[in-house]
Parts: sequence; C-alpha cells; structure tokens
Amino acid sequence: LPLNRGDFDPNSREIDERLRPQSLSDVIGQSKVVERVRVMLDATKKRNDTLGHILFDGPPGIGKTTLATVIPRELGVDFQIAAGPSLDAPKDLLPYLTNAGHGSVLFIDEIHRLRPAVEEFLYPAMEDFRIDIALGEGLNARTINMQLKPFTVIGATTRAGMLTAPMRDRFVYREHLDFYEPDDLVEIVKRNAVKLKTSLTEEAAGEVARRSQGTPRKANNILLRTRDFATLRDPNGQITTAIAHHAMEMLEIDSLGLERQDRRYLETVVSVFQGGPAGLSAIAHSMSIPTDTLEDDIEPFLLRSGLIQRTPRGRIVTDRGYEHLGLDPGLSPFI
Ligand code: ADP
Repeated sequence: LPLNRGDFDPNSREIDERLRPQSLSDVIGQSKVVERVRVMLDATKKRNDTLGHILFDGPPGIGKTTLATVIPRELGVDFQIAAGPSLDAPKDLLPYLTNAGHGSVLFIDEIHRLRPAVEEFLYPAMEDFRIDIALGEGLNARTINMQLKPFTVIGATTRAGMLTAPMRDRFVYREHLDFYEPDDLVEIVKRNAVKLKTSLTEEAAGEVARRSQGTPRKANNILLRTRDFATLRDPNGQITTAIAHHAMEMLEIDSLGLERQDRRYLETVVSVFQGGPAGLSAIAHSMSIPTDTLEDDIEPFLLRSGLIQRTPRGRIVTDRGYEHLGLDPGLSPFI
C-alpha cells in the first residue's frame, strides 16, 4: 500500500489540527489564491447561493486542507471530510451525500485516488445534486433517483494531472498552491511558536523556515522537534539560534532543507544509475519506497530546487545535484 502523508511521522496529523489556521485571515501567504477565495466567498454570500465546487492542487503539507476547512467556517456552513482512497464503493460515499446539508461543504482529500465507480456516482451529485441508485439485478433491476440538497465539493489532490477530465470539469474553481516564500514561512513559524507557547529568536525562525522546503507542514514538524531540544537544553526553553542549528544537525536536515530520504534519492540515482536517466519505479525499487511517495513527497522539491530533472527517458541528477552531494559533476555522463 502506498504511504500517505503523515505516515513518516505519526504525530503529524495531530500537529496539523493544532496549528491549522481558523479563519481566512489567519492563512499566511498564497495571497493570490486567498484573494480569489475571498471573492468566491463574498459573492456566494451576497447572492445567498451555494459555493461552486473547488479543486485545490499542490504538494503535500502546503495548505489544501487548511483552505478547505477555513471556507465552510467563513460561510458558517457544515463540513464533512472524506478521504478518496478509503471510499471503496458508491455506498461508502452515500452517507456523506445524504448528510450534506444545504450549502454545506464536503471535502474529499486525494480525490485523484477515487475509484472509477465512486467517481461516476459523484458526477450527478456534483452536477445536479442528484444520485442514481441501482436496485436489484437482471429483469428486476431499476434505478432510483434521489435529490440531494445543494452542496459544495472541495477536492484536494497532489496530482492534478491524474484527475480524469470529467472529474476536473466538474470543478468551477481550480486553484494551485505552490511552495511558500521564505518570508511567509518565517511568519508561519513565529505564529505557531506562539500557539505552542515557545519563544524563538528571529534568526532561529529564519533557520526553521529556510530548512522546511517551502512547506508549512515541514516547518511545523521542524519547529516541534526543535522545541524538544530547547526544552532540554535551554534554561528558559527558548529556541535560540544555536539550538536551532544543533537541532538541524541532529535531525540531519541540510542547508537546502533536504532530509535523509531526499539525499538518499540523489545518492541512489548517482550510485545505482550513474546519475540517470532512471525510471521512477526503478528508483523506488532500489530505495524500497513506494513510487507514490517518491513522486508526491520527495521529487517536487528536488525538481523545484533544480537538483534533479525529469526527462522523457527518466530522472537525472543535475550538476547542482552532484555539487550538493559534494561530488564532482564531471562524474556525470551528461557533461
Ligand atoms: P495539505 O492539505 O496541503 O497536505 P495542510 O492544509 O494540512 O496541507 O497544511 C499542513 C499544516 O501546515 C496546517 O495544519 C497548518 O498548520 C500549516 N499551514 C498550511 N498552510 C498554511 C498557511 N497558508 N498559513 C498558515 N499555516 C499553514
């Protein structure tokens, strides 16, 4: 079974809940997306309407669930959460649909992993607020239509490209969330330190932010781990700059924010595949990590940092990637 987010750190979901922004004004960064969401919400309220379906895509830990939970709160409507991969059959989706109150929001995480039968069941629900239930078999088979209350689906996906066209077309609004700017992450780290009743120096906040791969969830995790060091080593439990540095060393998070697994990815492509091109599944096999985890959790940041490249023949480690490992790019067959 592919690993889902949070599987590497069992506490991470709980941390998410504790530190999640409660209103749209608490959401930091992503200013264009937030502005557009504000317009959707204000217009919907003004028309006294039901919000159109929204799709959020972007890497794990980037704020998709956060926005999806803030929206119903802003609208003052009910909210339900379903996880795409856990809906095995239409009957698993049925209770969510029949429970959906007027104008309420149904959040479907990892919507690209819905099974085809479940997806097809969802289409008329999204389009006409209607479901078709098949009863009986053979000559006795018939279909019952059931009317639903108008509601809103908010879908989240790490792979917009894996969504089927009909599914994608049913979303009125589609928003892409990208990695955060360092300043925004500093702000997130500072606010969350307050929520955790921990003090940290400006420089330490910068350090945590810089090493978190542009991803708030990673920033939160590093903050929490760093706080442990501060609790043990600083008389006031403050995250000083020195403690932040020491924590990064212990956690094996390097200057670019790469973790052990990320470096292992680069090392594998270099040592097993001579720097590439190497196919995703071959790399995954060599690392004994599911391909989904590689593609969702590890590759996006390596790509964005220019440490690897995707080519039609597979992944290659760039000169920059070699240099980051302290290796001579001359070793690369691509020079
Ligand atoms: P995703 O659903 O994309 O995997 P989440 O919405 O669960 O990511 O974000 C993980 C955590 O990161 C949240 O609980 C929250 O603490 C923090 N976070 C994400 N986006 C923001 C943001 N824009 N502002 C402040 N905190 C954020």
